[in-house]
Amino acid sequence: MDTIIQRLAMDDPAGNEFYIKRDDLLPFSIGGNKVRIAEAFYQDMKAKGGDTMIIYGSRHSNLCRVLSDLCFSRGTKCIMICSHEDGEDSAPTNNTHLIEWTGTKIVNCAKNEIAQTVERVMKEIQESGGVPYYIYGDRYGKGNEGAAARAYAEAYGEILRQEQESGLTFDYIFCPCGTGATQTGLTCGHLLAGDGKKIIGVMISSRETTRAYQVIEEGIRAYFAEHPGVRERMPEDLSAEIHLLDAYRQDGYGKYDARVEACIREQYLTNGIPLDPIYTAKAFWGMTEYVRDAAVRDSRILFLHTGGTPLFFDYVTHSSKQPVF
Ligand SMILES: *Cc1c(COP(=O)(O)O)cnc(C)c1O
Repeated sequence: MDTIIQRLAMDDPAGNEFYIKRDDLLPFSIGGNKVRIAEAFYQDMKAKGGDTMIIYGSRHSNLCRVLSDLCFSRGTKCIMICSHEDGEDSAPTNNTHLIEWTGTKIVNCAKNEIAQTVERVMKEIQESGGVPYYIYGDRYGKGNEGAAARAYAEAYGEILRQEQESGLTFDYIFCPCGTGATQTGLTCGHLLAGDGKKIIGVMISSRETTRAYQVIEEGIRAYFAEHPGVRERMPEDLSAEIHLLDAYRQDGYGKYDARVEACIREQYLTNGIPLDPIYTAKAFWGMTEYVRDAAVRDSRILFLHTGGTPLFFDYVTHSSKQPVF
């Protein structure tokens, strides 16, 4: 199902037009990019003969919210592995509660025990006659880089169709970059199409830029390795195709200042769009800064709204109740 693309009311003296693709409105589990990605994992599990999904993430995770909901709604067993460091972000959030609603079993472990915990959980499932599927592949989280990329490679095809229907052509697509799966998929779609768009990921965490770059590159290679029929569309040197902005992540994951907060208010008030401070507002703000800093002119710019609406409501609950403009 296509999500809508809408023009944003934003005055830009440089003549750029801003659009937003509302993947926050995907019709399952409050939407977001994780709806497409969770479906890709689910299909991959089925294709590989798995019957028990092992998911990994924090109690605040959008991915774990959607996957736990998807598994419950389809009667598929789901076990969540959750690593933690002492004193780490302990207050429950909207996502925490929604994950709790599904009754998904949560196995806690320390950050340096993830591999052995994945292995133990997989073994337990096998011993009780099940076929485990770990979303990230093997116990080290390797081997499944292509599955999540598939989701946004397909979504890219949707964007191309929407361009044809509307007669608009986008010069840039911006998205928040966390694990990089979304950007990887979009970039695969762009390479498959061989078009002139620039796909730009706005980093939202303090992950090393070279590492983030490497993860995206590996993901693209994994995707094309799984699609041998189109392999010649991938250039051997991918450096001209992977664009990562690391200047707008502020102090790292979950950290944001008044500029991101102002962006949330402004987009809510002028376009009626919910943005959260951790992913979408930080990336949206980063996009507008970049467009100015890099003197982008007279372009059509598409921002992919990757969801996180429960985090928007976490923010609303804890933010100032006074008008700020
Ligand atoms: C997970 C997530 C992202 C980051 O997507 P990646 O594919 O991990 O880079 C961005 N926005 C929201 C709301 C998310 O939940």
